[in-house]
Amino acid sequence: MTPFTYNANPARVIFGFGTLEQLPAEVERLGLQRVLVLATPQQEADAQATASRLGARSAGVFAGATMHTPVHVTDEAMRVVAERHVDGLVAVGGGSTTGLAKAIALRTDLPQIVAPTTYAGSEMTPILGETRDGAKVTQSSPKVLPEVVIYDVDLTLTLPPALSGTSGINAIAHAVEALYARDRNPVISLMAKEAIRALARALPIIVESPQDREARSDALYGAWLCGTCLGAVGMSIHHKLCHTLGGSFDLPHAETHTVVLPHALAYNAPNIPGVVDELAGILGTHDAARGLYDLAGRVGARRALKDLGMPESGIDEATDRALSNPYWNPRPLEREAIRELIARAYVGDPPDSIAA
Ligand code: NAD
Repeated sequence: MTPFTYNANPARVIFGFGTLEQLPAEVERLGLQRVLVLATPQQEADAQATASRLGARSAGVFAGATMHTPVHVTDEAMRVVAERHVDGLVAVGGGSTTGLAKAIALRTDLPQIVAPTTYAGSEMTPILGETRDGAKVTQSSPKVLPEVVIYDVDLTLTLPPALSGTSGINAIAHAVEALYARDRNPVISLMAKEAIRALARALPIIVESPQDREARSDALYGAWLCGTCLGAVGMSIHHKLCHTLGGSFDLPHAETHTVVLPHALAYNAPNIPGVVDELAGILGTHDAARGLYDLAGRVGARRALKDLGMPESGIDEATDRALSNPYWNPRPLEREAIRELIARAYVGDPPDSIAA
């Protein structure tokens, strides 16, 4: 066996149906007296209901969370934290809401309890991406890791089918890249394969029947594992590309991951034959990259960057940016081949192995 180092991030995870009922007990367990509930404007009503459950231990709601964690929103939340003498944070929402909790925790070290409502996986990582003046800067700090994560499958039943599909494939991307990470290890690889199996099975069912409780449960379980992969090992070209494309052209996060993943895997395929064979087996196909492209089709996702709002002139710009400060990748980054990868993703063609 190849030698490895395994770092586990500390986390208390509660998983099941209706588990948000355990929130007051968790707040008490952490000894918190004045907890601020965070949400996006769209999920404010749920946040108010959550705050009501906490009774006297609630310091109210801040429902300003938004995509890519802009610093001006965090500053506004920080004023509320100070004014209301907040001693703990509860985030109920997707990666945007979790991002706000993490940004406040970075500045204050306040304990966080996160109840995820999408499959993004941010709750399991020490990573925080913040946007200042349009530029996103990512950092890693143990300070931003939530103390408690409450996975309540019921909270995901309202996630619209289209967003469920792309959010789930966003999660799969973390697991796929974990399988060929430079610092991969056997425990994380086991989680990654289990996660991809669970999500690939569940997502097409969810899109057809969003209230299917077993499929919703499998998907959230897979998302937890994928988040753990993302938090434990380094990511490669796929995540670098999505980060670059999202930041440069303001593209939607989960949908961008869904478009790019098959092409990024096809690019890497020649250098990771064992991984693509295993992935193909899990996906029940001969070609793993094609299997991911087909999965995106089955969940009704858009498969072209041009349909997400990227301009054609952006292909060269994205190529340049992808090659600057590159992440480690199993296949060295070759300008022409990376450009072809982006051009294919732009048009929405099926993935193809890209020769050097
Ligand atoms: P999101 O949190 O922005 O949610 C998308 C929309 O769906 C929002 O309007 C939200 O209110 C709504 N929504 C969420 N859950 C819902 C539900 N169950 N029912 C109805 N509506 C619901 O989207 P996301 O994809 O979860 O998160 C994206 C953000 O997370 C990005 O900023 C990304 O960079 C970040 N992220 C960070 C990490 C990390 O480790 N730091 C990991 C993954 C994602």
